[in-house]
Amino acid sequence: MYCSERPSVPGTRGIGKRIADIARANSLWVVAYGTGCGAIELRPLQTARFDMERFGISMRVTPRQADIIIISGYLAVKTLKRVLRVYEQMQSPKYVMGLGSCTINGGMYYDSYNTINKLDLYLPVDVYVAGCMPRPESIIQGFQLLMKQIKEGKAEGWRHYVENLEWYRENQKRVIKNWDLPDYNW
Ligand code: SF4
Repeated sequence: MYCSERPSVPGTRGIGKRIADIARANSLWVVAYGTGCGAIELRPLQTARFDMERFGISMRVTPRQADIIIISGYLAVKTLKRVLRVYEQMQSPKYVMGLGSCTINGGMYYDSYNTINKLDLYLPVDVYVAGCMPRPESIIQGFQLLMKQIKEGKAEGWRHYVENLEWYRENQKRVIKNWDLPDYNW
């Protein structure tokens, strides 16, 4: 499990921003959109046994209300298009979790003609949770790592996406042949 290391932006973190970051970290709302088989491990988090709401984490049915999108395993090229649409409709600051080995290196689908095998070429991943499939305890640990990054002002993937949109678009268009998304989508 690891966080993508991006330097925090110097001089932009006054007391107000630091307080806002603490509030954000303790109130992560997840867009309920499962992409691969790892999504099945998200369900137990909502039960009394793991109780993710004790950390302020809860599911939302619309990207407009969500802070984080979890790519829950293998991502088909066809699904990538929908995921980009959802991600770009979320309000900034927003975060991405890559769940399962498939998001890191393709996992058991590494040589499939139709899946993505390195998620951070297409989306700014803030935290990866390795495993096939990762247990709920690992996902909670991934959330805690992300919360720490947010509190320290280091979860800046969304900013990286905006500043490097051209690079992301090149990668996205390389695999999505029938590109019909708006060029600026938020
Ligand atoms: S990492 Fe394993 S469990 Fe997760 S999507 Fe890939 S094959 Fe499925």
